[in-house]
Amino acid sequence: MALARLCACVPPPALACHGRFTPTTTGGVTWTGSPRLAGSPMTVTPVDSRLEVDSVHDFVSALPKVELHVHLVGSASIDTVLGLARRHPDRGVPTDEETLRAFYDFADFAHFIDVYVAVNSLVTSGEDVTALLVGLARDQAASNVRYSEVTVTPTAHLASGIEPDELAEALAAGRRMARAEHGVELAWIFDIDGSRGAANGPATLDWVLRYRPEGTVALGLGGPEIGVPREWYRAEFAAARAAGLHLVPHAGETTGPETIWAALRELGAERIGHGCSAAEDPSLLAHLAERGIPLEVCLTSNVRTRAVASIEDHPIRRFLAAGVPVTLATDDPGMFHTDLDREYLLCHQSLGLDAPALANLCRTGVRAAFCSPELRARLLAAIPPG
Ligand SMILES: [Zn+2]
Repeated sequence: MALARLCACVPPPALACHGRFTPTTTGGVTWTGSPRLAGSPMTVTPVDSRLEVDSVHDFVSALPKVELHVHLVGSASIDTVLGLARRHPDRGVPTDEETLRAFYDFADFAHFIDVYVAVNSLVTSGEDVTALLVGLARDQAASNVRYSEVTVTPTAHLASGIEPDELAEALAAGRRMARAEHGVELAWIFDIDGSRGAANGPATLDWVLRYRPEGTVALGLGGPEIGVPREWYRAEFAAARAAGLHLVPHAGETTGPETIWAALRELGAERIGHGCSAAEDPSLLAHLAERGIPLEVCLTSNVRTRAVASIEDHPIRRFLAAGVPVTLATDDPGMFHTDLDREYLLCHQSLGLDAPALANLCRTGVRAAFCSPELRARLLAAIPPG
C-alpha cells in the first residue's frame, strides 16, 4: 500500500547505474550490470540512466533489512490504535479514523510527545503489548525486515497499570510470536523516558536489570531533549555498560550538536538516535566517521515532527558524504504513516541515492545491529555487493 501511495505522488525514480536487480529465491537480490558508482565515503552520483519503476520497488522490497530505531507504541497501526481507543474512550485519543489521522498532524516535537503519551495510555495490559509486537512484526515483514531492535519504555507501561513481571512476560510472548508468525527476530532497547525527569533513569535501569528479557541488547534515552541534559543519566548508562548492554541514546533530533557530543562523551553512545544537528558541526561529523558511530536516520519522522523542513532538506547526504555510517529507520511508523521500504524509496526518489547506495544503507544497518554474528553474516550475504 505504501509503495502505491508513493508511486502516485512522486516522479518516476532514476538509478545512477546501468543494470537490473533480481530477487533471489533465498530472499536476497542480485545485481547484473555496471559496478556501483558511489565511492567510499558514499557520494551521490549523477543520474545517467533510468530503470523501470518496478525494478526499484522490487530491489528495495527484496533487500533483507534490519530496523534499529522503532518505538513500540509509535509503531501501532491506525486500526490497532482505533481498537484500543474505543476500549478507552476517556483517554483523549480519537475513536474514528479521520479524526485520528488529523490527531497525528504534529505542530512540533512537543506536540508529538503529547500525542505519544496519550496513545501510550491506551496500552494497559500485557496482552496489549503482545498485540502491538505482533502487529509491528507483521508490518515489518511486509518491508522484508528480518531483525528489529524495538525501543520499549518500561516505566511508561508500568505507569499505565501493567505489572512489572507482566510486561516482561508480554515481551517474551510477543518475541516468540513475531518469529513464529512473521519470521522477524525482535530485540529490545529499553529507553529512559526523559519527559519523566532525572529519576526515570534509575527507575528504568532497575526494571531492565531485574527482568532483562531475552533479546535485551541496549539501554536508550528518548523523549524531549530540551531541558533534559544527557548528563542526567550518566550513572545509568555506565551501569548498563558494566552489565553488558549497548548504549543508544537519542540526541541532536531537536537540539544542537552539543547534545550529540554529550551523548558520546557523557553516555558512551555507540549509535545516535537521529543526530540531525551533527550536520552543523564538521568536527563532529569527522569524529562520527572516524569512530564509525552510526546515525539512525528517520527521514519521515524528522519532517513530521518538524525537526527538518522537508525530505530534500534532510542532512543525510551530508552525513554520507562525510563518511558517517547511516542506517534508515521509521521511528514511529504508525504515527508517521510510513514503513521501511518507503524510507528507502524516499532516499532514492527525493534525495537521489542510487541503488548501490541503497544497498549500502542496508549493509550499514546490518553492521550496526547488535544481532548475532551468524545472523549478521547471513544478512550481509544476501545484500548485493557495493
Ligand atoms: Zn525515536
